[in-house]
Amino acid sequence: MKKIALHWRILLGMLFGVIVGLVMTSFDGGKEIVQDWIKPFGKIFIKSLQLIAIPLILAALIKGVSDLKDISKLSKMGGRTIGIYILTTIIAVSLGLVLVNLVKPGNSITESTRTEMVENYSGDTKKYKETAQKQKESGPLQALEDLVPENIFSAATSNRNMLQVIFFAVFFGIGLILIPEEKGKTVKDFFDGFNEVILKMVDLIMLAAPYGVFALLAALVVESPSIDLFKALGWYALTVVLGLAGMIVIYNIIVLVFTKKKPIFFMNGISPAQLLAFSTSSSAATLPVTMERVTEHLGVEEEVSSFVLPVGATINMDGTSLYQAVAAVFIAQAFGMDLTLGTQLGIIATATLASIGSAAVPGAGMVMLVGVLGYAGIPEAGLALIFAVDRPLDMCRTVVNVTGDATVSMVVAKSVGKLGEPKVKDWDDHYEEVK
Ligand code: ASP
Repeated sequence: MKKIALHWRILLGMLFGVIVGLVMTSFDGGKEIVQDWIKPFGKIFIKSLQLIAIPLILAALIKGVSDLKDISKLSKMGGRTIGIYILTTIIAVSLGLVLVNLVKPGNSITESTRTEMVENYSGDTKKYKETAQKQKESGPLQALEDLVPENIFSAATSNRNMLQVIFFAVFFGIGLILIPEEKGKTVKDFFDGFNEVILKMVDLIMLAAPYGVFALLAALVVESPSIDLFKALGWYALTVVLGLAGMIVIYNIIVLVFTKKKPIFFMNGISPAQLLAFSTSSSAATLPVTMERVTEHLGVEEEVSSFVLPVGATINMDGTSLYQAVAAVFIAQAFGMDLTLGTQLGIIATATLASIGSAAVPGAGMVMLVGVLGYAGIPEAGLALIFAVDRPLDMCRTVVNVTGDATVSMVVAKSVGKLGEPKVKDWDDHYEEVK
């Protein structure tokens, strides 16, 4: 019997999760049952993905960089990657700004709703503001300084330090290229093998994906706030979702134009990573799966994907930047403020930088939004307005973040002649091999 394709199985898992969540909220004690007996499986699933993120980056990047055999190729690829990432982010923020100015979701918020929400949620947003404050206190070159770890072992102990681990891996890879081949062979073979093992671990984790997302969504549903809030923020949420959907269309056009690959091919290949991004709200947790899908199913050679994707997961967040632009202007509208064109152009710059600075974890976009609000002189209290619907929007923007990384990896691969045919034709088959 033909097995159902993986993305359908994941979607089914999500659907069952929502149904079970809804049923369990309908009676007393149901929420606690989900929290005690179902939610931990979701957590285990996310943790197992996070568990392999750092080893994967280390092994894949060292292997990828040393396979390039030439440092000039690395700088060419690096330059293109960063350039295209910034470009797609600017497109995303601009799209968000156009939409929020057309739809004007903030105008539908009455003064009483605004006051009520600010009162109800200001406590919840406090920790976001505190984190943002700490980041604000650092100097302009702090981010650059933070790129360089003083100790690779301590850097590798936290998934938040991905850029530091990337820095070390690239540096190590360069060292490996520069020593005589026979001396580096053992080290290279070691990382080659290590990388294979990690990719096999991704396959194993993916077997559990439908169950993992089931648990994650059931827990989300029982913990979500009341539906009334969603209604009040409906236009705002719709504007963000519309913009995010627009970005997916733009990615497909970019892939078609630059790589001649059809949207169906691209979406089929990347969809399991998108579904995981949606369920986990974390590009970092999704990274192992994004890497695997892009290399095995979209035909991007490992030398490219192992560099472009970890960098993208940490600095390229088109969905987040679009959301930050929409949220900032929405809050301004809700407070009756008129933003000049100059301020809005400034929002493009600050949201681009803020998305680069956002960590690839749930809710990070909201922390960095504080900076965008501060720049434009919009009251930070407005965070309370968007807090209630942040999680579902976080899920959607993470999908766009991950899809954006995959798009850029295909474009960069094509431009350096490293886009081939996918290794796995029947794109679901190979998960079965691990059984
Ligand atoms: N959750 C997002 C990500 O991991 C970041 C954010 O927008 O909060 O990509």
